[in-house]
Amino acid sequence: MEKIFYEDTHILNFEASVLECIPFENIYRVVLDRTAFFPEEGGQLADTGTLNGLPVLDVRIEKDIIYHHMNTALKVGTKVTGHVDWDRRFDFMQQHSGEHIISGLLHKHYGFTNVGFHLGLTEVTLDFDGSIGMDALRDIETEANQIVFANRPIHCFFPENDELETMEYRSKIEIEGAVRIVEIPGVDVCACCAPHVESTAEIGIIKITGVQSHRGGVRINILCGARALTDYTTKQDSVNALSTLLSAKPELVVDAVKKLQEDGLKQKDMMNHLANQLLQLQIASLPAPQICSNPILFVELSNPIAIRNSVNELTGKYSGYCGIFNGNDQNGYSFIIGSSTLDCRTLATTMREQFGAKGGGTAPMIQGNVKARKEDLIALFNT
Ligand SMILES: [Zn+2]
Repeated sequence: MEKIFYEDTHILNFEASVLECIPFENIYRVVLDRTAFFPEEGGQLADTGTLNGLPVLDVRIEKDIIYHHMNTALKVGTKVTGHVDWDRRFDFMQQHSGEHIISGLLHKHYGFTNVGFHLGLTEVTLDFDGSIGMDALRDIETEANQIVFANRPIHCFFPENDELETMEYRSKIEIEGAVRIVEIPGVDVCACCAPHVESTAEIGIIKITGVQSHRGGVRINILCGARALTDYTTKQDSVNALSTLLSAKPELVVDAVKKLQEDGLKQKDMMNHLANQLLQLQIASLPAPQICSNPILFVELSNPIAIRNSVNELTGKYSGYCGIFNGNDQNGYSFIIGSSTLDCRTLATTMREQFGAKGGGTAPMIQGNVKARKEDLIALFNT
């Protein structure tokens, strides 16, 4: 079988003869004498396109035979016209050639080995057996793009066995059949079966978008060519929207968000302070212990520590149950109830039975949540 994608990755239209058409599950597997369709192999998805205008669903390789998966049978012995989708092919080539440059540079400068590669429709990940951070990767990225700008040719070839034996290249593993070498002069030599762009300039921009620790090494995310441009546009739109919302220049949005966070914390502090002051005023306006034994207070937004301290303050003055309810009728209340003489758990039982309150605690103090009306809670405290 002639693999046209090895002769020229830019040939998309081709003529071929149907050698076999095998029914397989509910599809047909078509074998041709020659094809421009790259099959799913080496971490890269298969090409898509058509044979005689009919869609090729998938392309697989088994024992060096390429199978074109079709919904429709093609007659053995007939000539077919094939067409490979260029957008997908070119996108995959941009990502894959970019991957070789990054892997080549990490091997050259750090001795890292690429131990995993995934080229999906939206994501490209590279796994390495060594650790590196984003700062150092920025230098790798800069060098990778200089190689793009230098427009170096990418050379794919099948060396003779004796030449191969003395050759230094990555991915030196036992491969069945002829070993194909992809060489980017001065950067990388690697065994690889996939189609590549003809020169580095075709890759376009190479962008490293992320790095995480992974199985003792790192997983790096990259985007090349059109994908990098789309990513730039998405991020630019996002920064511009933030810039408008924050009334800050795009390069100053991070500072603006930090200031917003600081302001938020200050406001929260101020609100807590005011709520505590309000709590103190409410406590001061409660009826005297001589005429009231079960004081009850309703607040909103106070912090739990202030409420607990206030309940403790009340139990020192009043003999019965002292309760502070935080919230409102609509959303319910969180409560803390204390007493220096009575068992608060008795009240907890009553509140559970009467209002379906949740929570618990000890004899001197209980806390929980309740969905009840303010007036009903006051009535309970009055009895
Ligand atoms: Zn490769």
